[in-house]
Amino acid sequence: MSHYDYLIVGAGLFGSVFAYEANKRGKKCLVIDKRNHIAGNIYTEKVEDINVHKYGAHIFHTSDKAIWEYVNQFAEFNNYINSPVASYKDELYNLPFNMNTFSRMWGIKTPAEAKAIIAKQIEDLGITEPKNLEEQALKLVGTDVYEKLIKGYTEKQWGRPCTELPSFIIKRLPLRFIYDNNYFNDRYQGIPIGGYTQIIEKMLAGSDVKTDTDYFEFINENPDIADKTVYTGQIDEFFGFEYGSLEYRSVRFETEILDEDNYQGNAVVNYTDREVPYTRIIEHKHFEFGKQEKTVISREYSAEWKPGVEPYYPVNNDKNNALYEKYKALADTRKDVIFGGRLGQYKYYDMDKVIIAALDSVKNEFGE
Ligand code: FAD
Ligand code: UDP
Repeated sequence: MSHYDYLIVGAGLFGSVFAYEANKRGKKCLVIDKRNHIAGNIYTEKVEDINVHKYGAHIFHTSDKAIWEYVNQFAEFNNYINSPVASYKDELYNLPFNMNTFSRMWGIKTPAEAKAIIAKQIEDLGITEPKNLEEQALKLVGTDVYEKLIKGYTEKQWGRPCTELPSFIIKRLPLRFIYDNNYFNDRYQGIPIGGYTQIIEKMLAGSDVKTDTDYFEFINENPDIADKTVYTGQIDEFFGFEYGSLEYRSVRFETEILDEDNYQGNAVVNYTDREVPYTRIIEHKHFEFGKQEKTVISREYSAEWKPGVEPYYPVNNDKNNALYEKYKALADTRKDVIFGGRLGQYKYYDMDKVIIAALDSVKNEFGE
């Protein structure tokens, strides 16, 4: 096998941005992934002529113009605006929490009425210094919104009581006192027409790629394959779980093809009560305003990570962050390895943040 400048572990967004940029600078890269396809969690594949987000709904959004322009080099984006709906028992609410939500919840019309109800609920709670997600949420949104739209969903999603979760997790659910169902506050938003996989294909065009290849076996057999490694797998696994395992949340996706053209009328419906076992149902065609005769839906069931399943979400509470710092200290001694991405940096990164982090690593590495 030939020798490479970089062995890149993980054909997800971080590894692929790094490969693309290294390639542009004349470096030779080998990108490996243990899955049987490229693109990591942003992988999309065609089913019934619909681009299915195989690892959950992915909506690109950013406030960073340079990052928006960067990603637009690789695909044309549509004007999809994420406007999820929340189903709580037999009630249906718009997200994020905005005047449509409040109007449905309390039968009111004006921002002043909504503000008065929320302010009264917050005052009755008497929380001064919020200590966890529950207190933070209650102090921000009051009792009704918390009980109906946050508590059940969050406890299902994270498998922990809200009193044991860090409050930053709900930072993107602000209150909005206008009738506006746009979930994100970012300036730029959309879905790549034709799916995400094409973006990664273009990024990896100049590199050698090997799927179905696990790093730990591969490096045993090819210890001198490259001068340097970019590693985007789990950082704790890289070090043989020496200090113990970090915690992750996994998701089980149950995907179904339905013989109807429109199942739920929206791309994303969240199920916010505890009784429904899944957190949300995605109807993939609506990301691209699809007109196909059939439809494909995925139910998402959240689960604790254990060896053998995919680790999707780092659980960034104090305990895990402290453990991560120990692994980070070990990583800092490895000048031959760059750790990146959601698993390599143990951070709850969105796609735009992953691109920023990858471009930062490129800058560190190539000095420009
Ligand atoms: P990954 O995509 O996980 O890539 C890492 C790759 O490394 C994987 O392909 C894995 O197979 C491979 N790998 C790991 N270990 C090894 C090994 N030992 N050997 C070989 N290969 C290995 N972001 C948004 O901006 N908007 C959204 O709407 C959004 N929705 C999301 C919904 C869900 C359900 C999830 C889980 C994430 C969502 N994200 C969203 C976040 C987004 O998926 C990530 O920011 C991004 O995909 C992370 O890229 P990455 O390269 O760090 O990781
Ligand atoms: N959340 C919630 N109710 C909802 C949607 C989200 O309480 O209907 C909370 C929940 O704690 C979740 C967090 O907000 O983990 C972030 O959710 P989002 O859907 O924005 O993030 P994703 O799961 O796609 O990373």
